Amino acid sequence: MQTPPTVDSLINILPTEPLLMMGAGPVPIPHSVAQANSIVINHLGDTMAKIIHQMKEMARYVFQTESRWILGVAGPGSAAMEMSVCNLVFPGTRVLSVCNGYFGRRFGEMASRVGGQVDYLIVPDGEAAQLAVVREHLERLRPEVLTIAQGETSSTVFNHTLPQITKLARDYGCYVIVDAVCTLSTMPCEMDNWKIDAVVTGGQKGLSSIPGVSLIAFSERAWERINARTAPPPHWCLDAKLAEQFWHNASYHYTAPVSGILALHEALHLICKETLEERFERHLRCSLGLQRGVEAMGLSLYGAAESRLNSVVGIQVPAGVNRAEICKQISLKYRVEISGSFGLDIVRIGQMGEQCRAHHLFRTLHALGSTMKDLGADVDVAAGVAELERELQRGN
Ligand SMILES: *Cc1c(COP(=O)(O)O)cnc(C)c1O
Repeated sequence: MQTPPTVDSLINILPTEPLLMMGAGPVPIPHSVAQANSIVINHLGDTMAKIIHQMKEMARYVFQTESRWILGVAGPGSAAMEMSVCNLVFPGTRVLSVCNGYFGRRFGEMASRVGGQVDYLIVPDGEAAQLAVVREHLERLRPEVLTIAQGETSSTVFNHTLPQITKLARDYGCYVIVDAVCTLSTMPCEMDNWKIDAVVTGGQKGLSSIPGVSLIAFSERAWERINARTAPPPHWCLDAKLAEQFWHNASYHYTAPVSGILALHEALHLICKETLEERFERHLRCSLGLQRGVEAMGLSLYGAAESRLNSVVGIQVPAGVNRAEICKQISLKYRVEISGSFGLDIVRIGQMGEQCRAHHLFRTLHALGSTMKDLGADVDVAAGVAELERELQRGN
């Protein structure tokens, strides 16, 4: 027999004052979502069936689709990405992976792991994908599946040409998979109108739920492809036909993450009550307020204005300041968490779900400016905070 280890209890490990989560996810969750997440019920039976039925109804609204084929997945946003890929990409399927950064490439890697023949369209740093370049690739490579992120969290790039790209790809007969993990419910993403065949999202970003329970929507057309396949996908847990057992037939696939599903139900319910129009407006106003505040302080935003993502704001690290030090100091001294980045010399502040609240913005902007000042940058904190206030008051 081994002896049990002596470890600290959680209460001794967790910060006494919670950190304000203003990075690129996970984001703060509303109290009612946290409450829902504390409940365990039977994963099968009438109560769960009703919850799943309502979730699909609400998800159809959030995805802006009439498709029946809404499924959840016990796993991170990446598992939803993998589920979309492994059900639509077969050995030999030609895939075009549009990449504006880390997550775009992840799609391509997932597709090649299931045997897809992947071509990468690498978009230059800080830029959105251009329709003409995508057209040229579609024409030359004739892919059967195209993958793209609406918002590339890693580089804070917004593919503002997404609706044109998805419609064009459909004209070429392509199945289009869109990663909307950080954008869904923060800005328009219209699955049916834009002719998208699969939209994936995670819980912990735009939806302001917990990490680890995700959603996916397949179009009718995508579902026909899934039904017509001749061999099952390599991942048993991610097999959409098996997931249909739970999400459509009230029976067993694997034990669903009941608490996380309840949390996601509550998060979707809050979105429906707020309405997408109001929610988009809140996100836009808050993100632009933050961006104007950052600039008024004397800091610079990353990338060209039209390809800047509002859901995650990229801020250039001023000369002479160390990026890792900013993230460390702002957390230690001001109890605000923000994100560094994979490679680029930027720090990132999230504007997803509960992050878009005026009191969080003021605290974060003040903490960012003060930290930069502490680290020797020449910033005007008061000017930034005043500009944020002006921006938020606009139109009120
Ligand atoms: C966070 C994120 C993911 C991955 O989500 P995980 O839950 O970390 O797996 C994928 N795509 C985008 C755009 C993201 O922001």
